[in-house]
Amino acid sequence: MAIVLGIESTAHTFGIGIVKNGEVVANKKDMYTTEKGGIIPMESAKHHSLKKNEVYFEALDEAGIKEKDIDAIAFSQGPGLAPCLLEGMKFARELSEKLKKPIVPVNHCICHLEIGKLTGAEDPVMLYVSGANTQIIAYAAGKYRVFGETLDLGVGNFIDTVARFAGIGFPGGPALEKLAAKSSEENYIRLPYKVKGMDIALSGIQTKLKQLIENENHDLNDIAYSLQETVFAMLVETAERALAHTGKKELLLGGGVACNSRLQEMCKIMCKERRAKFFCPERPLLVDNGAMIAYLGDIMFNKGLKVAHTDKKLKEKIDIKPRQRTDEVEVKWK
Ligand code: AMP
Ligand code: MG
Repeated sequence: MAIVLGIESTAHTFGIGIVKNGEVVANKKDMYTTEKGGIIPMESAKHHSLKKNEVYFEALDEAGIKEKDIDAIAFSQGPGLAPCLLEGMKFARELSEKLKKPIVPVNHCICHLEIGKLTGAEDPVMLYVSGANTQIIAYAAGKYRVFGETLDLGVGNFIDTVARFAGIGFPGGPALEKLAAKSSEENYIRLPYKVKGMDIALSGIQTKLKQLIENENHDLNDIAYSLQETVFAMLVETAERALAHTGKKELLLGGGVACNSRLQEMCKIMCKERRAKFFCPERPLLVDNGAMIAYLGDIMFNKGLKVAHTDKKLKEKIDIKPRQRTDEVEVKWK
């Protein structure tokens, strides 16, 4: 039984979560946003550096604990934007030195999956749809395997870029969802549908959408609607194929795009049709957050998977991995 602090800083969100005896007792964050245009990595990193102490003390407050009660510090080592990851890593090292406590480096994508356990999912296929990542992940033989993924753009980044073409700031997903809700089936605009085996591709669809926006012949509501119907169908199709292939009976949604209620609805329909159970964490645990980092950090810490603050090779072992892949990680805690 332990108190583990988790630091999230892979992209736009600086988050601190605290898990006490396996339970989330704090989940605080501050998000970098823009009025116009996308994430500028250096700006987002600056945001994290400015906000880290504030978010940290808010989290301690929410958990009702003192700094000295912390047993270990977990942080997202990857994948993510290097300048943003560096801020999280520096903060983890700083706290480790100050509190004389070990560090637990964790993989961000796997945290999205592991936190799904709190919703009751035991051995799910996960449809992980975030800004930079779009993967269908499931556990098999010692690792979380990637059964399908995007061949080019992450679905969130794809949506944000389309929003940017239309003059909408970051994040664009929630704004496009609202526009899509104002359109309906009879206004559907046919778009390319790109599923290749278990993978999807989005750049061709993005080009088509850019042309539609530039031509100004179409209502933005109809464009947003058609984007969602087409791209979400591609995601659900590949997720369904992964369920069929693995024989698993649970689908778990994760990542920021999973906040979209139309995507949730489409997943529910598919699960009902094939008698699979559908799981989707509450919003604060769905988007990037520190609680999921602390949650996996706690599991790993309890299995002895940590780097002591006195470790001579700490600098080597505690590094960022901007391009770390889900299936690179040896799952030693199961
Ligand atoms: P993450 O990287 O997991 O934090 O997810 C961030 C991404 O989720 C951004 O690209 C957002 O545009 C996207 N997003 C957030 N809410 C929604 C929504 N309601 N519909 C579609 N995308 C969304
Ligand atoms: Mg994420």
